[in-house]
Amino acid sequence: MSEKTAIVAKLAVIGAGLIGSSVVRAARHYGAAENIALADADEDVLARAQALSLADTYSVSAAQAVADADLIILAVPVGAMASAATAAAPGMKAGAIVSDVGSVKSSVLKTVGPLLPEAVNFIPGHPVAGTEQSGPEAGFASLFDGRWCILTPPEGIDPKVLETLSAFWSRLGSTVDIMTADHHDLVLAITSHVPHLIAYNIVGTANDLETVTRSEVIKYSAGGFRDFTRIAASDPTMWRDVFLNNKEAVLEMLGRFNEDLTALQRAIRWGDGDALFELFTRTREIRRRIIDAGQDEAAVDFGRPHDE
Ligand code: NAP
Repeated sequence: MSEKTAIVAKLAVIGAGLIGSSVVRAARHYGAAENIALADADEDVLARAQALSLADTYSVSAAQAVADADLIILAVPVGAMASAATAAAPGMKAGAIVSDVGSVKSSVLKTVGPLLPEAVNFIPGHPVAGTEQSGPEAGFASLFDGRWCILTPPEGIDPKVLETLSAFWSRLGSTVDIMTADHHDLVLAITSHVPHLIAYNIVGTANDLETVTRSEVIKYSAGGFRDFTRIAASDPTMWRDVFLNNKEAVLEMLGRFNEDLTALQRAIRWGDGDALFELFTRTREIRRRIIDAGQDEAAVDFGRPHDE
């Protein structure tokens, strides 16, 4: 537990899954909030979170959890943000900061904003950190350490409110970046959403093959396929909602992807080794830059151990 002064007196997190439970764990570990309330609409999930002693109070009622909270974070799938906001809104106090952790920002800004009381301050957010796991047991306090947290404040937000929310995420170990919701969705479409779609697609294709057996696919998976299966094991609800809510940006990036794939197909067909070699050299350089930037380790990270 940190000796620093808490950023907020009361934090309420709605959604006790991987991200919500990690926010709660990190807030407690780094002393970011004096009091923490955790809510989840699912009684079983809430009981599991309670068994882990993650928060100070637990409730299936979002309105009850957010009473007196200075900071409220919605940590539910993007498609459930509106219902979570509707359930929590009657309990919100004037002046509270409301944020979220959804992987898509424009749709959250448009759907959640109008559902909140006028007297609260709404700043959507996205910690760019996660794993392919779900549920309260999957969370850990160091999830946000050294990771980016993107905040997408609407125009006219009070700078002090933005400062408090930024300080909260910094205390959890993140580096905060600020951009518009639309820009966030475009950037994340190429760095996260399209890569997940490719992983879902290649694993699906391998599973449907008739000339290579499923047992051979599993047996020889080390040849690159295994990395895709980790990504393709990500939560189906979360990712369905990401694609339904970031449609335009994903389709735009997929268009570019398909053009580049066609060029590669042509290079293979015509034996253009130079084109292949040039691309593979450039992509290797990008991997090196990601490691240098501290966004991944050179070591294989299957079964990543996580310190609490
Ligand atoms: P998760 O582990 O599945 O947790 C979501 C939790 O929210 C579940 O316990 C779910 O209960 C609960 N829930 C659903 N609807 C609710 C509602 N209306 N009110 C209260 N609780 C509700 O998912 P997660 O990975 O933590 O993802 C949460 C959010 O973080 C998503 O918006 C996602 O886009 C974002 N995010 C995820 C990652 C990642 O790597 N996973 C990274 C960054 C951001 P049920 O299971 O019973 O539905």
